[in-house]
Amino acid sequence: MNQTQTLTATPEGLARAAQILSGQGLVAFPTETVYGLGGDARSDLAVARIFDAKGRPRFNPLIVHVPDLTAARTYAVFDARAEAVAAAFWPGPLTLVLPLRQDSGLSPLVTADLESVAIRIPAHPVAQALLRSFGGPLAAPSANPSGRVSPTRAVHVLEGLAGRIDAVLDGGACAVGVESTILGLIGEPALLRPGGIAVERLEAMLGPLPTGGDAKKPNAPGQLASHYAPGAPVRLNAETALPGEVRLGFGAGASDLNLSPSGDLIEAAANLFHLLREADHLAQPGQRIAIAPIPEQGLGRAINDRLRRAAAPRP
Ligand code: AMP
Ligand code: MG
Repeated sequence: MNQTQTLTATPEGLARAAQILSGQGLVAFPTETVYGLGGDARSDLAVARIFDAKGRPRFNPLIVHVPDLTAARTYAVFDARAEAVAAAFWPGPLTLVLPLRQDSGLSPLVTADLESVAIRIPAHPVAQALLRSFGGPLAAPSANPSGRVSPTRAVHVLEGLAGRIDAVLDGGACAVGVESTILGLIGEPALLRPGGIAVERLEAMLGPLPTGGDAKKPNAPGQLASHYAPGAPVRLNAETALPGEVRLGFGAGASDLNLSPSGDLIEAAANLFHLLREADHLAQPGQRIAIAPIPEQGLGRAINDRLRRAAAPRP
């Protein structure tokens, strides 16, 4: 990709943006908080491209943006408490972390393979228009390179990501300017990140909110199911398979499964969680999963981060 188009929120601009998203491309768009970097949340490739464009060093879970509650209920399980919070604060700058529906159809890269999903209905009219013309869920972290300040104007998006994304939908300046508040509603309610909705407003409804919930560790004990780790032991940097091993390859060379035969890191990221599971199914009792070396560059860093955790000693 070399040129990033700037689109406007006209019927033509929205139709073009939706077409790019349907082709698994990336479109940055305005929300009331900051500009989000949107990709189809059901597409492994689109979500892998988001991580690649941002240069994120790990696969932390992304927020899924939907136009309305009917759509939200197809991805997350809403209990009475979640319904009440949603009725009070959506659309708006509040993200809810809820149990993921088994039949959600979301890419496991969006949830970092957790059993929870972070979901939000943005209020911004351009975000709403884009979600409706696309007709699907959008994974959208802030539209900036990893570690840089979040963008609140289309020009900020271009400063950081021009040439790395397909388009930016220009909707002017964002009103709120800080990220959404993240409320965990799995088990006891917990504030996972302060943001655009004041905590006091949530506490008026839910009572005092522990802030102990660490947004960087969404799988903290008692909050969420733990990260998926294969049942079989994992050996990294395996140039070849030893007897009793299922080899997960990358690039050329003999392997039982391959993250990307052509050695493409974006394809490998898109396949990662699916093939880890498949390798685990293939491994007989007592067998091990041997994973090919992955270059420590670009998305390879995020892949290796995840693989090192899969290979770490189990508690
Ligand atoms: P952002 O960079 O604005 O997309 O922030 C996303 C943040 O939301 C993550 O860093 C997590 O803290 C939180 N989050 C997203 N998805 C989940 C999830 N499935 N479970 C728990 N927390 C999540
Ligand atoms: Mg950000």
